[in-house]
Formats: sequence, structure tokens, C-alpha cells
Amino acid sequence: MNQSLFKNTLTYLNKAADLAKIDPHVFSVLQHPKRSVEVTLPLRMDDGSQQILTGWRVQYNDALGPFKGGIRFHPNASLEEVTALSALMTWKNAAVGLPYGGAKGGVAVDAKKLSTHELERLSRRYVDAIYPIIGPEKDVPAPDVNTNPQIMAWMMDEFSRLHGYAVPAAFTGKPVELGGIAGRDTSTSLGGVFVLEWFLENSKEFKDRLPQDISVAVQGFGNVGANIAQILFNKGYKVVAVSDSESALYHKNGLDINEVIHSQDKKGKIPKNVCYPVKIKEVKNDVDCETLTNEQLLEADVDVLIPSAIENQLTEENASKIKAKVILEMANGPTTPEAENTLTKRNIIVLPDILANAGGVVGSYFEWVGNLQRYTWSNEEFAESLKNIMLKAASEIGKVKEEYKTDFRTATYIVALRRLSNAIKLRG
Ligand code: NAD
Repeated sequence: MNQSLFKNTLTYLNKAADLAKIDPHVFSVLQHPKRSVEVTLPLRMDDGSQQILTGWRVQYNDALGPFKGGIRFHPNASLEEVTALSALMTWKNAAVGLPYGGAKGGVAVDAKKLSTHELERLSRRYVDAIYPIIGPEKDVPAPDVNTNPQIMAWMMDEFSRLHGYAVPAAFTGKPVELGGIAGRDTSTSLGGVFVLEWFLENSKEFKDRLPQDISVAVQGFGNVGANIAQILFNKGYKVVAVSDSESALYHKNGLDINEVIHSQDKKGKIPKNVCYPVKIKEVKNDVDCETLTNEQLLEADVDVLIPSAIENQLTEENASKIKAKVILEMANGPTTPEAENTLTKRNIIVLPDILANAGGVVGSYFEWVGNLQRYTWSNEEFAESLKNIMLKAASEIGKVKEEYKTDFRTATYIVALRRLSNAIKLRG
């Protein structure tokens, strides 16, 4: 993290609180996490040696309901990063109207270097360490970077072992066989598409344009990036560029995203120097195909840019060179406040992370509600309910944007702040 994500989110919060005249006492509460727990995790390795790892669970605010937020396993995880992400979860859950507070967990570890058994032991250790502060009514974790449904299954099992009986509602993002919900893995991306299409339909510039005339570039080709590129491609949008941490592909007429996904290697990397233009099914080197650098992808001449990788990608340095008209922030914190100022002055619309990528936690919410009630959602019911929540949130934020004559991010923070502030005041 070269710029503090926590400082950035507090900058946005401050701006919204000033504009909406939020009670300063409430605002000061929201500048600090309610509880930060650091845990030491001795991990027995397969060769008999032991590593001592550090983990965290930060419970930022629970004015609106139980804490909720993912757990990430990453070598750069730190208390500051986990705190920033727990604050973002608080604003996100409040902005879309979920009955949740915000939390986040992390362990500083290179999970890719662990064997399956080591990963399982680490997951169980972490749950043992944070067991007193989590649970379906207290704090409900979910997957995040480098954690997945299998890890949630081990964690749920460990929690249930300590509890004495099966508690599926203690974790979300579980495998479907254990009370997980089909569609949860694509719900972040689908939610982002609902927000984008809501904006396009309400925009003078885009409302009469067909999907095939709207060009898109997606940075990051993991869970979120690949899924959103695929959903947009299958809806007919012209996805001209995609990238991962090592390479980027571009074709001016659009890429066949189903083919790109099909050609990913075992580690999920997209192919280098081969591209898949639309309507050409066989793999071929195409004269019009270009490979781009990460910077070039961000600065590509497209209608919609979708950062779906990591934080701090749109900065003071490149904001003046961005050509996209709309930025849909699927990653958490991809735009710095300095970049946002420049983008706003240039009339580039930024649909902020805490709205754009909220579909993931909405999917988790459905899973939790289903587990508590022993109820199973149909796919249609899941997609319809996700759409309703995302559109309701987008339209409320759109109205606040007009009311305060401000940008989408500030409007989203205002909606979140109002809900949090009312709850904090009512609870006294
Ligand atoms: P992931 O690990 O599955 O994928 C990340 C992708 O980004 C990979 O393709 C990786 O190669 C690429 N990448 C990394 N560094 C890059 C760089 N410098 N340039 C270009 N590409 C780069 O992660 P994910 O689950 O898809 O999450 C992506 C972002 O979305 C994160 O910011 C995450 O916090 C956020 N997010 C994810 C979810 C979810 O449900 N998975 C929900 C909300 C927010």
C-alpha cells in the first residue's frame, strides 16, 4: 500500500460529513474502529517445523447490526490495511442498506506457499484465536483475497466444533453443500453490472447507445474482473481490453471474453501475445491485436474503465491521462482522493467501490439469512433480490447526488453516514 487506504477513506468520509452536516460527535466515533484484535498463530508445517504468524480481526462499527467482512491471507496484510478495509465494509453495508456493521480480518502470510494441510491448520488456528468475538449474531466473516469456499468450510467446521453443534450462519461464502449459495461467487460482478447499467440508462450521453457501441477495459482478471468482463461480453458490450498482473490484451473491435477465460492457465493467468478478437473462434495471432502495459490499459480510449485488481491504481500521476468517461470501481480503493479531484474536474464519472462492488456482501447477506432460517434460495430469487437491492441503492444515491450537487462517491458516503448517524443517535 503506497498510499494509506485508511487515510483516503477518511478523507472521503470527511467531505461527505461536512456537506451533509453530520453531527460531529457521531462523525468522531466513525473515525476509529470499535475493536481491533491482534492474534499470534503458531503454525505447524508439514516438515515438523513451526512458523509464528500474525493475524487481525478489526470490528469497525456495529451500529446497524452484526459485524460483517472478509478475511484475507496476504504477505502484506497489516493492521492498518485491515482497519481500512473494515471501515470500507462499514460504509458499504450502510450505503446499500444491509443490517450489518463492518469488519475485516487478515493474516500476514504467503498462502500460495502453504500446502493444503498447512492452509487448513492455519484456517482452524485463526478461528480458534478469534472465536470469542465472532458468531452469527456477532461477526460473520467471508472470503477475501486468497481465501475461498474451502477455507470457509474449514473455518465453519472449527467454529462449530468449538460451539458444540453445526453453525453454518457463522461464515458466508461457503461451498453450496454446506449452506453456501449458488451465485455468491459472481454476485460482486453481477451487482457491478446492475449499477453500471443503471447509470448508463440514466445518462444523457449513453441512454440511446447499444451495448455493442460501448467500449470497456477491465483491469484485473480474477474473480471479479473475469466475471464482470464475461457478463458484459455476453450482454453484447465491446470489451476491448483486459489485464492481469503480468499482461494485458487489447483489440479495437473487442475481445471474445469466453475464449480468453477458456485459455487462462492453471494459475488463472491470461495468455501472453495471443488474443481473441470477437467472432474469430480459433486461437490466432491477429495483426490488430496489441499487448498493453498496465498503465496503457488504464489510459485506453474507452467509454468504461473497470479497475478490478488492487488499490491506488488511479493516482495524481495518471488521472489527467484517463480517457474513459465512466469508471466503475470494482476493486476496493482503486482511486486516490487526488485522482478523484482531477477526474471530477474533467467530468469523468466515478461509480465508487462501496456501491459498485457491494453485490458480494449482498450475496453473503442472502446466504446468512438463508442459513439462519434453514431456507434455500432459487437462482432466480437470488438474482432478482440482488438486482432490487443494488438498483434501490443506486437510485437513492443518485437522488442524494442531485440534492447536494456532488459526485457519486460523496453521495454514497452521505447515504451511508445518514444511516449510521441515525442508528448511533437512536441507540444513544
Ligand atoms: P483475485 O485475486 O481473484 O484477482 C485479482 C486480479 O488482479 C488477478 O487477475 C491479478 O493478476 C490482478 N492484478 C493484481 N495486481 C495487478 C496489477 N498491478 N495490474 C493488473 N492486474 C493486477 O481478487 P478478486 O477477488 O477478483 O478481487 C479484486 C478486487 O476486488 C480487490 O480489490 C477486492 O478487494 C475487490 N473485491 C472483491 C470482492 C469479491 O467478491 N471477490 C468483493 C468486493 C471487492
